[in-house]
Amino acid sequence: MSAYDDFAAHMAQVNDLTCVMNLLNWDAQTQMPAQGAATRGSQFGTVARLAQELFTSEKTAHLLAEAEKEVANEHPDSYRVRAVRQTREVFEINRRVPVDLMAELNAHKPVAQKIWGEARAAKRFDLFVPALEKMVGLYRKIADAIGYDEHPYDAMLLRYEPSMTAARLQRLFADLRGVISPILQRATTQGEPRTDFLSREYPAELQRQFALEVAQEFGYDLNRGRVDVSAHPFEISMTRNDVRITTRYMRHFLPAAVFGIFHESGHALYEQNIDPEIIRSPLTTDLLDLYAVGGASYGVHESQSRLWENLVGRSRAFWKVHYPRLLSLFPEQLGDVTLDEFYRAINRVRPSFIRVEADEVTYNLHIMLRVEIEMGMMDGSVKIAEIPELWREKSQKYLGIVPPDDALGALQDIHWAAGNVGSFPGYTVGNVMSAQFFTAAKRALPGLEEDLAEGVYGRLFCWLSDNLYRYGRTFGPEEALERATGSKLDVEPYRQYLNAKYGELFPG
Ligand code: ZN
Repeated sequence: MSAYDDFAAHMAQVNDLTCVMNLLNWDAQTQMPAQGAATRGSQFGTVARLAQELFTSEKTAHLLAEAEKEVANEHPDSYRVRAVRQTREVFEINRRVPVDLMAELNAHKPVAQKIWGEARAAKRFDLFVPALEKMVGLYRKIADAIGYDEHPYDAMLLRYEPSMTAARLQRLFADLRGVISPILQRATTQGEPRTDFLSREYPAELQRQFALEVAQEFGYDLNRGRVDVSAHPFEISMTRNDVRITTRYMRHFLPAAVFGIFHESGHALYEQNIDPEIIRSPLTTDLLDLYAVGGASYGVHESQSRLWENLVGRSRAFWKVHYPRLLSLFPEQLGDVTLDEFYRAINRVRPSFIRVEADEVTYNLHIMLRVEIEMGMMDGSVKIAEIPELWREKSQKYLGIVPPDDALGALQDIHWAAGNVGSFPGYTVGNVMSAQFFTAAKRALPGLEEDLAEGVYGRLFCWLSDNLYRYGRTFGPEEALERATGSKLDVEPYRQYLNAKYGELFPG
């Protein structure tokens, strides 16, 4: 065996363990009886520790060094060179963070989540303050250990969106506000669309049937996938051969499961179409988080869920093709609803308190609010106890509404309690990138609009597979974006998309 083969075989075991963790996690959220939680935590912890020990071992150091020598003169874009280079980068970052600090953080996460749950039930942010202060204190130490040029938040972004910085995000948000504010203004001053029919009774089995047919039209392969029910919808993969999604059916709110399944199947398309050659490798493993995933970053992953959910799945062209089918499944619920009424209802734009229920336009404002607070927590300019007040101020400024309590405000997301500081920007970066990928595909594929108008998704799917999905984590997010679209992160295609769609819905 060559030195690289030894290295690859060793790293394949790291990937195997991360896939086992994913499977334990999937099971816990979809199948496990409640009493199983008592021991599942320790099972997960044991496997996570084994993965961590294996990856940070002397053996990895040795095999990595030998593999580096062997691939030194190979093509810089080859899978072998990239796998070695990325393993080295993460290996060095891991070395900089003291083991005790990580252990303290991991021990604090479940404690913080429990306290957050209690604080949210009591609608009292003050109960959560000490736990969040401790969390942020630990992250500031970790940021110092990792190192950063300008802002401690940059070190946090390394885990989720490595090409972003606090400064770039601030510019991005400023650009986006200029696009979103006028749309929101027009949407809220023009009359309410009719939405009563969305909350009629829709049997879950028929919701599933419709959404799954569409997911398969998009390209989701159920021979290597499946759909289950969970409280919080997600996509998770155990290599490209086993990519699962979940959803939550609400009998009295049709859009939740339908668009939820479109969204998660967008994530699944990415994972299912990674090049078989890089299966069980560092190019399908997030080594920093020890998580089995093939997407280049949270933002790039999210760009694909949103491309399929919003740019395709909430378009007029899509519903022109699919509304008759929906109508045939739900003749009583939708019999008195025109295509135009349906289209306007699913694209209603209104400020709301809860991020996960927000529409495609105001969603970005929810993200801005959180990210600005996170940056302030990390550089010390925001005092944790003052977050609810700051939340209300920013909510008024961006959304024009003030949450009546902390459960509808600063306590609504689990992210800070779970220790995912720095993950929010991925949602907005994903929105921006989704339009870049979609625009690039249209440019590369003449007649794509006609395909979409007929409900034919094969060429779009193939273009995305060939230009993005297949590479997994071979390229970092910005490099992956630039190779596929020819540009770095750029708000312009997203601006044009929003203005075209919502300009037609809410003429100025
Ligand atoms: Zn998503």
